[in-house]
Amino acid sequence: MHDMPDSRNWFSIPPAHRQRTFPASSRHGVNITCQGRSLINFATNDYLGLSQHADIRQAAAEVLQQQGLGSGASRLVSGDDPLFHQLEQQLAAWKGYEACLLVGSGMLANIGLLPALADRHSSIHADRLNHASLVDGARLSGSKVRRFPHRDMTALQQQLQRDHAHRKLIVSDGVFSMDGDQADAAGLISLAEHFDALLIIDDAHGIGTLSDPRGLTAGHGIAGHERLVEVGTFGKAFGGYGAFILGTEPLINGLRQRLRTMIYSTAMPAAMAHAMQAALILIRQGDLTAKLQRHIRLFRQACDGLPLLPSQTAIQPLILGRDEHALEASARLREAGLFVPAIRPPTVPEGTARLRITLSAAHQETHILQLADALRQVLCI
Ligand SMILES: *Cc1c(COP(=O)(O)O)cnc(C)c1O
Repeated sequence: MHDMPDSRNWFSIPPAHRQRTFPASSRHGVNITCQGRSLINFATNDYLGLSQHADIRQAAAEVLQQQGLGSGASRLVSGDDPLFHQLEQQLAAWKGYEACLLVGSGMLANIGLLPALADRHSSIHADRLNHASLVDGARLSGSKVRRFPHRDMTALQQQLQRDHAHRKLIVSDGVFSMDGDQADAAGLISLAEHFDALLIIDDAHGIGTLSDPRGLTAGHGIAGHERLVEVGTFGKAFGGYGAFILGTEPLINGLRQRLRTMIYSTAMPAAMAHAMQAALILIRQGDLTAKLQRHIRLFRQACDGLPLLPSQTAIQPLILGRDEHALEASARLREAGLFVPAIRPPTVPEGTARLRITLSAAHQETHILQLADALRQVLCI
């Protein structure tokens, strides 16, 4: 009897340095208040500072005033709103695709998309460092999943040569969330063409942040390709919450019929869709992205000689190896007034615990130089 776990001892507790924590905090502009202390936040995906922007607050508030918060149902029942259709058209036009479909979140997009596109007769070729939502989506699809070494086009080609499945998918992050490096979009699409595969790119971290604000696929001139399906999210550069899928009209239409995580889930608040229209206007102007790009260059110059990964994006990881080293560095930066989280396994591979620094257009240049100085002191370099 006593061996039977109840809800109090169902889970075994990992050692302290492996436990995930929920550091309750409130945010004000570029600052974050943790345990009563205001710190400069280098841990947000709000890359352009749009979550705080006056235009976006106002756009959300207008709709909130008129029609309240919740949409009350799935879009297919009574939760649809003209604002969703407008936003879909605007996103498709901006990104260079025929059609677009809104989804509740990036996680919902990916765990719905892969099972909608692939089944147990299909195969999925996935980059080893893909986001967890793509890993889970691949699993849920029931397809045969083969992972290829990170960004290794030769290995992927060899896998595809041996693959005789009727439907083949290649799945990759655009900008990788823990390393900040970028998929070889041109290499992926040419393999997709050569092997009659469909390519899915999730560019959650690239849209709005790369030198072409439309993201990785636009930068490589492959946006709108008929073998390409792209996922983007509102939780990062757009400063909101939600996600969207882009592709050809027939593909998106098929998803309208089949995407279970959209069909069986409450539509996002219309206020969010209106706010994301305002975000799109700001992103299209390009000034905020240009400012973020300047911050990235400034940071990398100021950190010359530090063990940064070779990332050119807003995600700037600094590898420290052991969990304890990353935790201690994070704690010392916090003493210096800087919020930089330690990211440990299982989120990243064993032995690659790191500081994951994210830069934002909302930072000031002095914040970035202050971080570079503090990193040198903490790491004694
Ligand atoms: C953040 C992220 C997601 C999840 O998006 P949410 O809207 O936060 O659920 C999916 N894919 C990638 C690559 C991400 O970085």
